Amino acid sequence: MNYTIIFSIISAVYIIMLFIIFHNKKYYQSFENKVYSSLITTTLLGLIIEVFGCFPIKYGISWLILIQSKAFLMYLVTWMSLFVIYTIVISFRDINSNKLKNISTIFVAVCYVIILLLPTHLHNQNNVTYTYGPSIDFVTFYSGVSILVIIFMILFNIKKINKHKIIPMLCFCILGVIIILINVKIPGLLLITTCEAFVTFLMYFTIENPDVQMLEQLSIAKEAAEKANNAKSDFLSNMSHEIRTPLNAIVGFSELLKDEDVSDTAKEKVNDILMASNNLLEIVNGILDISKIEANKLEIINKEYEIYTLFDEIIALTKARIGDKGLDFRVVIDESIPTILYGDSTRIKQILLNILTNAVKYTKEGFIEFKVSTVTKDNVCRLIMSVEDSGIGIKEESLAKLFSKFERLDVEKQLTIEGTGLGLAITKKLVDLMNGKIIVQSVYGSGSKFTVSIDQRIIPVEETVIEQKPLSKTRVIDANGAKVLLVDDNDLNLKVASVLLRKYHFNVETCASGIECLAKIKNKESYDIIFLDDMMPKMSGRETLEKLKELGNFNIPVIALTANAITGMKEEYLASGFDDYLAKPIDKKELERIITKYLSRLNSQKMKSSHTNRITSILDNDIKLEDVGASRNEQTLDFKGKKVLVVDDNEVNIKIATTFLKKYNLKITTAKNGKQAIEKVIYNDYNLILLDELMPGMDGVKTLENLKTIEGFKTPVILMSASRIDELKDKLIGNNFFGYLGKPFNRVELEKVLKEALK
Ligand code: ADP
Repeated sequence: MNYTIIFSIISAVYIIMLFIIFHNKKYYQSFENKVYSSLITTTLLGLIIEVFGCFPIKYGISWLILIQSKAFLMYLVTWMSLFVIYTIVISFRDINSNKLKNISTIFVAVCYVIILLLPTHLHNQNNVTYTYGPSIDFVTFYSGVSILVIIFMILFNIKKINKHKIIPMLCFCILGVIIILINVKIPGLLLITTCEAFVTFLMYFTIENPDVQMLEQLSIAKEAAEKANNAKSDFLSNMSHEIRTPLNAIVGFSELLKDEDVSDTAKEKVNDILMASNNLLEIVNGILDISKIEANKLEIINKEYEIYTLFDEIIALTKARIGDKGLDFRVVIDESIPTILYGDSTRIKQILLNILTNAVKYTKEGFIEFKVSTVTKDNVCRLIMSVEDSGIGIKEESLAKLFSKFERLDVEKQLTIEGTGLGLAITKKLVDLMNGKIIVQSVYGSGSKFTVSIDQRIIPVEETVIEQKPLSKTRVIDANGAKVLLVDDNDLNLKVASVLLRKYHFNVETCASGIECLAKIKNKESYDIIFLDDMMPKMSGRETLEKLKELGNFNIPVIALTANAITGMKEEYLASGFDDYLAKPIDKKELERIITKYLSRLNSQKMKSSHTNRITSILDNDIKLEDVGASRNEQTLDFKGKKVLVVDDNEVNIKIATTFLKKYNLKITTAKNGKQAIEKVIYNDYNLILLDELMPGMDGVKTLENLKTIEGFKTPVILMSASRIDELKDKLIGNNFFGYLGKPFNRVELEKVLKEALK
């Protein structure tokens, strides 16, 4: 028995074992596995041909040797072709398997024909028998080319091919070359089948091996997990709904209670209830959001919105959150941001509030900076919003976990900080849903910076359906040169307040101490308002005020302008004789409230002497501060059964007016524009109409003109406007408006108008 037969028998044994093992298991039916299965079968056939080939040689049956030789050559071509196909499959995963199968079948068939047609010769000398001739040369050439193709394919796709799979390939190429060389020297020694069996065996450990049973079990487990996840989401959304219902009552009644005439301590408690309820509501909302996101139910609802109103709200809420924490809250908003954008403002608000709230929570001292810039291209505006803080910072290794839900970092450090670990997970999902980006930069121990960028469509102002200018910009306050004295020992503070006040056309004078302020008043300098800092060296604000009050005839309103802003301070300052209180950093809205209040008082004093008709008599009675207290103690007015029509193009304004009017038991109807109002008046009787001054299309004056053309129209019409009454005097008198209501609403003013119009 020669060496070839010994090698072949050994190879046949382990290939039979491999064949049994492979076919005993259920395999995932990938093309790669099918090719491999054919390779095992072909190898086995090759070994059988080889083993049985020893008999005709032994007995010298030449024709049988030649037939066996042809069969063996056909086997070799088949094996080589399968191996090349296998290499193609693992190199190009997305190859069309059917096409490859068809082409290779034709190719192998052609090779078979060539093998059959080419002559094969028999060598039989000195007990050495082998075949030679063109058919053998053709297969040797074919094998050489195949090896080259395999090597090139591996080299060009080295990154795509799984590294383990390269090992049997390289083994075959190296052994193949060695065997071809040996065969040239010793033509009778056939080692190629053994080599192929060895490579096939090696390949078994590298083929794609997910068995079908495992896959089935996996898919069952996946289905069960999905079901459980859905059940959890349903449960969470039910729970949050159940929690929200009673919470709604708590929040609603607390809000009402706040408006009632209750003691200050009761009010404080109500505020605490509201704060706690809001915290709870935030947690519930967070859980609901996460469950919605996981169930893919969270939608982005795009509509037109005013960017400045959005920022105003966010800033106000953040300031409220900072409260008395003493953080320096800086806001830098690029003025070039288009006013009206199209997108989901509610979700943008949620994203920013989450990040800003975190900044407040995780910053003990220092600053928080909220910055917005923009890049505009065509009709798309990229909002780049960043929140930087000087807080505890985040460890570098924790950054990766930052956006995972329920993940709170550095827990030992945060024991006293409330949180669920949901905020940033939600934030990230929301940013992703809006195709935006969020980036975090942080230095542990020094602070963090979160930057969010989101694209929003720009709505040209003339196309808008909502009020055209931001709320904060529409309210025109004009101090008309009223004189203000600012007293503060800090230069920068003086600068900030002066700039703010000059915007409203105040004539601003400053001084750096209480002593200077006293001197000015003693010198008979007159001012309409004094803003007085409290904590000043030598003479504090309170002491200055005391001294001022000791001067005869001192009746200038003095407003405490102080960074002493913890809760309860306002009350303390009012009790010490200040007329009002403004916390630093100055909140624009709060400043406007104060300015409006004292300017109205000023106007009413100035105009008292020159009023001639109804309107001027309203002016004459306009908002006297003393009235506020008096009115509060009065019984609530009741106009049961009376009908009021509120006409305003701004939904928020309508809501505010409705909320105010509801208290008086009125039947309220609303209209969004002049046209709607006229239609309503034609078909209904109203006891009073509240008409907005500035509306797109038909403004308040035009609407009234049209209303007057309706037969029998006698309903009193009140003009609602953000402009001052003295600016509107001509409009009011010339058009026979019954009266005027300033925006924002003032209860005293409103009650006065209602009493007169509905008596
Ligand atoms: P939490 O309700 O705990 O605030 P978040 O998802 O909002 O949950 O934040 C996850 C974690 O990321 C927080 O617990 C905190 O450790 C860290 N983190 C978030 N924002 C900041 C920040 N501005 N400074 C420091 N750490 C922060």
